[in-house]
Amino acid sequence: SIVSGQIQGPKEEQTEFSLRPQNLQEYLGQERVKKEMAVYIKAAKKRDEALDHVLLYGPPGLGKTTLAFVIANELGVKLKSTSGPAIEKAGDLVALLTDLDPGDILFIDEIHRLPKPIEEVLYSAMEDFYVDIVIGEGQTTHAVHVPLPPFTLVGATTLAGQLSAPLRDRFGIVEHLQYYNVTELEKIIQRSSSVFNIEIASQAAHELARRSRGTPRVANRLLRRVRDFAQVKGEDVISYETTRDSLKQLQVDDEGLDQTDRKILRVIIENYHGGPVGVRTIAANAGEDVETVESLYEPYLLQHGFLLMTPRGRMVTEKAYVQLGLPIPGQ
Ligand code: ATP
Repeated sequence: SIVSGQIQGPKEEQTEFSLRPQNLQEYLGQERVKKEMAVYIKAAKKRDEALDHVLLYGPPGLGKTTLAFVIANELGVKLKSTSGPAIEKAGDLVALLTDLDPGDILFIDEIHRLPKPIEEVLYSAMEDFYVDIVIGEGQTTHAVHVPLPPFTLVGATTLAGQLSAPLRDRFGIVEHLQYYNVTELEKIIQRSSSVFNIEIASQAAHELARRSRGTPRVANRLLRRVRDFAQVKGEDVISYETTRDSLKQLQVDDEGLDQTDRKILRVIIENYHGGPVGVRTIAANAGEDVETVESLYEPYLLQHGFLLMTPRGRMVTEKAYVQLGLPIPGQ
């Protein structure tokens, strides 16, 4: 769990914290987002006001949480972190909000999963910095007007489409995080290696970057595993050969697809003649939940041309057959 920027938990999660860049300069890639945020942060500081509310969206593992902490550091304010499903009662939200100092950030991850009644409480909090809550039961019920300090809500979501319009409209700043390119991921991998105190050959970093699904979290996870293989072999510098062999062992293919990516494509090909088929059916057949398929797997498969979105559902492309080594129908 994350408490005021400190992660407690197993060793890997602790290194995760030390891997996190602390300021915009250390935060690699996402150049357009960084440039815009730098301006908004500077302006808010100059006016000595709370930064406008920020919505960050994009697939998981692209560094939305990291960026929220970076924004807090750059502003010089505290950040309180929670998630949509963790807020069950309006009182939970009010407790979080009243605990903030002026200018502080409330970070809500998976904000699309906030229960509806709580979302409604958030409207007046975001817009006019107050909440009206009803307390007591039966005859003693009464409304209480609670003023709040001016604060910044940073919301993160993997599925911006599932956010209600009234909530989306209350974010003055909306930033879309994109998949990272290979060069950016190489830099992230080199940076993480130096945090791990191990060297990695540039060809090895390049190969890892190429196969990390455009995602820093995946890059860091693969780097940890490759480091294990390299250290067991007694390598001082992680080599290209070890990287390639361990990725093979980890069943990450040359396009960076993992077992679940391939399972999804295989389900569509083998059970539904290549589609079109609905996402729910795909998820059920692949044994994954719908949200995971929609937010984590599909965006990458779509962007890399393995999958097509049609009005009648998802269809695989010829590239998918080739990648799986299956015959293309009708050829
Ligand atoms: P999500 O977008 O799902 O919130 P996240 O923000 O939780 O993803 P993180 O855990 O922040 O993802 O990022 C995964 C790992 O990648 C972290 O260890 C973080 O250090 C690293 N990372 C993410 N983005 C960057 C970046 N732009 N530059 C350097 N490292 C990054």
